[in-house]
Amino acid sequence: MDIEVKENFEIKNLTTFKIGGKVKRVFFPKSEDEFVYLLNETENPLILGSCSDILFSSEGYDGDVILTSKMRGLTFDGKRFYAECGVKGSELSVLALKNSVSGFEFMSCFPGSIGGNVYMNAGAHGQAISDTIISAHVFDLKNKNVKTLTKEELELSYRKSILQNGDYILISAEFEGVKSTQEEISKRIEENKASRSATQPSLKYPNAGSVFKNPENNSAGKLLEEIGAKSFKVNDAEVWQNHANFIVNKGNATSEDVLELMYKMYSCVKEKQGIKLKPEVKFFGKRSDREEEICRILY
Ligand SMILES: Cc1cc2nc3c(=O)[nH]c(=O)nc-3n(C[C@H](O)[C@H](O)[C@H](O)COP(=O)(O)OP(=O)(O)OC[C@H]3O[C@@H](n4cnc5c(N)ncnc54)[C@H](O)[C@@H]3O)c2cc1C
Repeated sequence: MDIEVKENFEIKNLTTFKIGGKVKRVFFPKSEDEFVYLLNETENPLILGSCSDILFSSEGYDGDVILTSKMRGLTFDGKRFYAECGVKGSELSVLALKNSVSGFEFMSCFPGSIGGNVYMNAGAHGQAISDTIISAHVFDLKNKNVKTLTKEELELSYRKSILQNGDYILISAEFEGVKSTQEEISKRIEENKASRSATQPSLKYPNAGSVFKNPENNSAGKLLEEIGAKSFKVNDAEVWQNHANFIVNKGNATSEDVLELMYKMYSCVKEKQGIKLKPEVKFFGKRSDREEEICRILY
C-alpha cells in the first residue's frame, strides 16, 4: 500500500500545546483499509487524532505514530451518523446541525477527533459521547482483527472508556441523536461558545484543555484556584489567568516545563487540600530523568 509516511518528523506543530520533538516515523492513513494494514504491520504504534489532549516529549519519540487526521469519512443515513476516527467532533456537530439533530452541540467547542473523543468519553456543557454513541468498530490488538463493540461494551463513564485498557483501537463509530430544530441547536452552540470564551483559553494560546480531571463531587479548577495556582509558572509554561486548570505555552515551553508546573499544582493541592489530582493530559515520548521522576508520582 502507498501510505504517506514521514521520517524524523517534528510533531510540535500538530499538537495544540505546540510542544514535541522528532518522531522516528509518522504514518498518515487515509482510509480504514490503510489504517488496519498499519495496525497489523507496525509494532506498538502510538495512535493520535487531533493531539489536543496530550503533552508530547520535547525529546521526541523513537517509535511509530499513526496519525488519523486524514481519515475523514462522515455520513448520515437519516437516522445514524457514521464517522471515521479522524473526523473532528466539530465536523460531526455541523452535520448534525444541518440535519436538525441534537446531542452533538458540545463537540463544536473543542478540537478532539472522534477517536480521541470516544477514548476519553469526552464531554462538556451537560453532554457527552456516551449520550449518542451506538457502537464502535475497533481493531482488536490481541487477536489482530476488526470487531464491533456495543455502547455497553465500551464501558463509558466520566472521561473513561474501555479503549484506555489498551486492547482496542477505534476505527469508526456510529451515533444517533434526537430530533430538534436548527434554531434550538444553534442557540445551544452559541451559549456553549460564549461561556467558554469567558473562562478558557482559545487555541491562540497553545494548550491541551483541562490539565487535571475533576475529583468526584469537586472541581479541579476550583481547588487549584483556592491554592493560588493562577500565579504559578515554570519558564514559558503558565497557568491560565482566567482558569486555574489550564496551562498555556507562552512560546518556548518544553515538556519538562509543563510537567514541572503540573507537579507544582498537584503538590500544592495535595498538601493544602489533601486531594491527589489525576492528570487528564497524557504524556508521550522519551523521558528525561526529571520527567520520569514526576511521571511516577503523577501517573
Ligand atoms: C482548548 C481545548 C478545550 C478542550 N475542551 C474539552 C472539553 O470541554 N471536554 C473534553 O472532554 N475535552 C476537552 N479537551 C480535550 C480534548 O480535546 C479531548 O480530550 C479530545 O477527546 C481528545 O481528542 P484528540 O483527537 O485530540 O486525541 P489525542 O490528543 O490525539 O489523543 C488522546 C488519547 O486518545 C487516544 N486516541 C486517539 N485516537 C484514538 C483511536 N482512534 N483509537 C484509540 N485511541 C485513540 C490517544 O492514543 C491518546 O491516548 C479540550 C482541549 C483543548 C485543547
